[in-house]
Amino acid sequence: MYWEAEIEQLPVGKLDKLQLDRLRQTLGRAVRSPFYRRQFAAAGVVAERLTHIEQIRSLPFTTKEDLRNHFPYGFLTVPKDGPVRLHCSSGTTGNPTVVFHDRHDLDSWANLVARSLFCAGIRPTDVFQNICGYGLFTGGLGFQYGAERLGALVIPAAAGNSRRQIKLMQDFGTTAVHAIPSYLFRLHGAFVELGLDPRRDTLLRHFVIGAEPHTEGQRRRIEELFGVRAFNSYGLSEMNGPGVAFECIEQRGLHIWEDCFVAEVIDPVTLDPLPEGEVGELVLTTLDRRAMPLLRYRTRDLTRILPGPCACGRSHRRIDRISGRSDDMLILKGCNIFPLQIEKVLMRFPEVGSNYLIVLQTRKDGDQMEIRVEVQKEWFTGNMEELEVLSRRIGHEVRDEILITPVIRLVEPGSLPQSEGKAVRVQDLRTFQEDL
Ligand code: ADP
Ligand code: ZN
Repeated sequence: MYWEAEIEQLPVGKLDKLQLDRLRQTLGRAVRSPFYRRQFAAAGVVAERLTHIEQIRSLPFTTKEDLRNHFPYGFLTVPKDGPVRLHCSSGTTGNPTVVFHDRHDLDSWANLVARSLFCAGIRPTDVFQNICGYGLFTGGLGFQYGAERLGALVIPAAAGNSRRQIKLMQDFGTTAVHAIPSYLFRLHGAFVELGLDPRRDTLLRHFVIGAEPHTEGQRRRIEELFGVRAFNSYGLSEMNGPGVAFECIEQRGLHIWEDCFVAEVIDPVTLDPLPEGEVGELVLTTLDRRAMPLLRYRTRDLTRILPGPCACGRSHRRIDRISGRSDDMLILKGCNIFPLQIEKVLMRFPEVGSNYLIVLQTRKDGDQMEIRVEVQKEWFTGNMEELEVLSRRIGHEVRDEILITPVIRLVEPGSLPQSEGKAVRVQDLRTFQEDL
């Protein structure tokens, strides 16, 4: 029941050995890039001195800032005519970063995505509709080639146009879908508008969801709305894109493909390694990338390594779902808050819809958090008293979680702005007064 039985079940000792071999090869390649040549010289990095994979900790980190500062060719290990494709991250938080791939890299990536899909129960007999942006975004071509490699029939549906998505699903009997979680709620709305129920009127059975933070509660909602099982897919463009870590059918954490990546979890402040089970920032090293290897890349994503083996038999360790980013942390009145903490509370209320927006504002009496929450249609009865009670209950539970009392504003379904791509959950409108 594996895509690559031997590699996926490789005993931990052998996996360590494979990682060490590949790390040393990777260092040998990386030193050909202008960035790592300089960095290795400054830090005295010598590949031959590494005799155990744990010594990866002696290497310097690579950051998004490094990628930006050496844009576009500073990390390339081959002549400029060597790579065959590039992808850029969406650059939601600044200048874009670019990653180049040669043929080997693309081949390895497609295989990892095929392995991931197989691990989540998708098979060559599936009809796989890829509902996400193509182009520079890695989810489009990444899943396209991966699902083709698996042998599924792939519909390159791209993002948006929900009615057309539904028509494609019905025309071609789509059984598996990849999409970002926030879009799926909109898609469900389109089914309802057409008087259709995806559980009855489609053959959908498997979803792959990822690319943006979401909670277990959102996953369960998606599964119920569509009558499917939804599997968490984690990746980032710096590490190819999708196919870095993926849930297996156990749905208990995401296997990180350790033959192709070294995963470490560090304290984002002290940068010290953290033991298994503790939440910190995920740091990743590529082991099978040639045109542009990256060493100890700081993802800024917060997670932990789950202890113990997985019932599926794969030996590759699992990470927990991403619980936030070390850089999307909000600091309000001295409290550190992650938007996902708030989402987790909201999802406990069946009355709450799928969209919400956290707005931070400066008021006369200090900074304030307002949470605008869409309420399910059937609950938005206009009965002010009931809504009052509900918003008070939500306010209490959020305060228990984040230690700050928010203002809760319940709004009608569909009234909050929806982004085309990844959901925007926070608007920081605070005016910062400079210290005198
Ligand atoms: P950008 O942030 O510029 O859009 P990417 O498209 O590479 O760049 O996005 C990668 C980021 O998306 C990850 O670092 C992570 O924060 C987020 N992400 C991807 N998959 C998941 C997932 N399954 N759960 C939570 N967050 C995810
Ligand atoms: Zn497993």
